[in-house]
Amino acid sequence: MAATPEDVRAAVGAWIAAHWDPQRSLLEWRRQLVEHRWAVPSWPAHWFGRDLPAWADDVVATELRAREAVALPLGVGTGLAAPTILTHGRDSVRERFLRPILTGEETWCQLFSEPGAGSDLAGVTTHAVRDGDEWIVNGQKVWNTSAHHADFGILVARTDWDVPKHGGLTYFVLPMRQPGVEVRPLRQMNFHASFNEVFLSDAVIPGDHVVGAVGGGWAVAMTTLAHERRFGAMSRPRFSAAAGRATEEARQEADEHFRTYAWYPQRAGRADLLEEHARRAGRTEDPLVRQELAAVLSWQRVSGWTGDRASAARALGRPPGAEGSLGKLAMSVIARRAAAAHSLIGGAAGLLTGDDGAFEGTIGEVLLSVPAQSIAGGTDEIQRNIVGDKVLDLPREPSVDRDVPFRDVPRNA
Ligand SMILES: Cc1cc2nc3c(=O)[nH]c(=O)nc-3n(C[C@H](O)[C@H](O)[C@H](O)COP(=O)(O)OP(=O)(O)OC[C@H]3O[C@@H](n4cnc5c(N)ncnc54)[C@H](O)[C@@H]3O)c2cc1C
Repeated sequence: MAATPEDVRAAVGAWIAAHWDPQRSLLEWRRQLVEHRWAVPSWPAHWFGRDLPAWADDVVATELRAREAVALPLGVGTGLAAPTILTHGRDSVRERFLRPILTGEETWCQLFSEPGAGSDLAGVTTHAVRDGDEWIVNGQKVWNTSAHHADFGILVARTDWDVPKHGGLTYFVLPMRQPGVEVRPLRQMNFHASFNEVFLSDAVIPGDHVVGAVGGGWAVAMTTLAHERRFGAMSRPRFSAAAGRATEEARQEADEHFRTYAWYPQRAGRADLLEEHARRAGRTEDPLVRQELAAVLSWQRVSGWTGDRASAARALGRPPGAEGSLGKLAMSVIARRAAAAHSLIGGAAGLLTGDDGAFEGTIGEVLLSVPAQSIAGGTDEIQRNIVGDKVLDLPREPSVDRDVPFRDVPRNA
């Protein structure tokens, strides 16, 4: 008989009760979680899972939280690299990389965007050339979050210039810690520095670090992007009050992770602070403020339902669909409207950053961070193109470079 969420909750609850010991190391705990196949129960039994539907992952996460036990690491490894490698990787690639992603022993970054290829990802010119048992890579990537402390990068590079642009790409796992990889942090207008430029000069990739087929990188990248669109706001895990080695190490890991992502809540608009700010400013009776707050909260509620629809589809085993693009667009709308509502409440002082600004500078940081919500992971315009194409079945955007060899496509030098 098929397992129900209640069965899974009871089974994982009993397992956590028997095995969770905050005094042991974080690595030991996560290794146990993986070996006992509770890390990602929706994965195939052969790959650390239990062949359960996707809802089982949520049940386990909820149960771990309820029992104040540490969960999987956050970030590009578990969020993007692992599901992509699981779907497209050969067994040797899965064998090499999946386990240390789940235990947090190795960290990852995403090396897709380039100065001349962001929305048009298929236009990348970073190239990899086969040399015996290895690939040699040259080019430049940009906006690469966390690349400054990553062990590996998921990399899209051109391996064939003589076929149309989508067909000449290959998806690699690039070892970051090598002389041919230079990572330079970029400082943002909101004063944070979470992403980097990455220069690749004769960087070396072992021959077996290809994910999917050589020349088949576009389909693999689409899997990564589908997962990226589902990425919601990341919340910091709660840790047990009881001190222990595993919880202390997890706390340090989270501190490091959230140093990079510290501004992401501001990027999402901090709608959660609107009511409090309206009260503190004495503006709760102001009809304009009330109207804006109601609009933001309505958008949030409706977008939550779209998210629920996406979860239900995932639980039924359907691949990520249009809800991803719709959800991502809604997040942009919410972020912008929340920023506007904050400005209405905070007035001119909202434009000041730091402690001089309204509400300890939160509004200033929101205003400087919100534009990124409409860019990261595919811009609003690109999401609209996807919705037009895939949901509304409108004619495709005209293109002059899809069917010619990439070598002949006009581009900036
Ligand atoms: C916070 C943040 C984190 C990021 N992290 C990473 C990361 O870890 N790894 C990584 O590889 N990249 C990362 N990126 C880069 C991100 O993926 C790109 O910025 C994004 O894909 C847009 O590309 P672009 O910046 O080159 O803009 P462009 O593609 O040059 O777009 C410029 C403008 O033109 C519009 N436009 C472009 N094409 C079309 C079209 N066909 N139709 C209509 N309008 C169009 C765009 O919507 C945009 O407004 C990150 C970006 C941000 C903001």
